[in-house]
Amino acid sequence: MDAASEYRYQRLTWPQMNDAIAAKKVVLLPTGSTEQHGPHLPLEVDVFLAESVCLEVGRRAADRVLVLPPVSYGLNRHHIDFPGTIHIEPEAFIAFCLCITKSVAYHGFEKILIVNGHGSNAPLVDLVARKTVLETQSLCAAVNYFSLGVEAFNQVKDTPVMAHADEFETSLLLHLAPERVQMDKAVAGNDVVGKYMSSDSTSPFVRFSDYWGRWTKLGVHGDPTAATAEKGKIIWEAIIPRLIELVDEFRAWPIAQRSDQHAGPVQSQIRW
Ligand SMILES: [Zn+2]
Repeated sequence: MDAASEYRYQRLTWPQMNDAIAAKKVVLLPTGSTEQHGPHLPLEVDVFLAESVCLEVGRRAADRVLVLPPVSYGLNRHHIDFPGTIHIEPEAFIAFCLCITKSVAYHGFEKILIVNGHGSNAPLVDLVARKTVLETQSLCAAVNYFSLGVEAFNQVKDTPVMAHADEFETSLLLHLAPERVQMDKAVAGNDVVGKYMSSDSTSPFVRFSDYWGRWTKLGVHGDPTAATAEKGKIIWEAIIPRLIELVDEFRAWPIAQRSDQHAGPVQSQIRW
């Protein structure tokens, strides 16, 4: 295996890493969570799906992709009333991920893409990407893998809600790892919905996420009973080529010279 055909970051040796940097590979960082996913799914769902998506993109585009080991934990205290959930404070998560992206940038990789699988991490990986851009000479962007599957899901879905341990996630698990799904325990659940607010931040107007222990005894938001492996395959096969397209667009994205418009000298020694 050489740097052109190996897509798993940690499988390379350091001399091969120099080849991967020279080949201008895009480095993918999967981020997820270890959190309850209802009575029918394991706690690994978000990180398993984010990593699986990245590894499949790596298999299909090995010459231009390297996949880092995933970040398996995220912002999760709102799920803490359910046994097993692991919570990382947002400041710690951002700092930890930033150490990864800055290390990758330090070595000379110019394009880093965070592929997130846990909704509550979304504002955090956005900040990690921004801070990486501001603090390095590389570019870093973040994408929620599930956003690339919304259109396909809308074509096949039988239930309206796309949230958590729902028809979407359960279908993907049934496609990828059916032995990990206990469909006999799948039950639908909904959050509290008002005119402007909803307790699981699914309102288009208001950002608000309440403790899940306040509004559900199941830990499900959505209807997993409508999930099938066939739907999962359709969603999967929509996500993978779109993410490859995104990787190629990002890989070709120019890193232009900044132009400074100050008439006088700036204090470039200032560190934020
Ligand atoms: Zn999930």
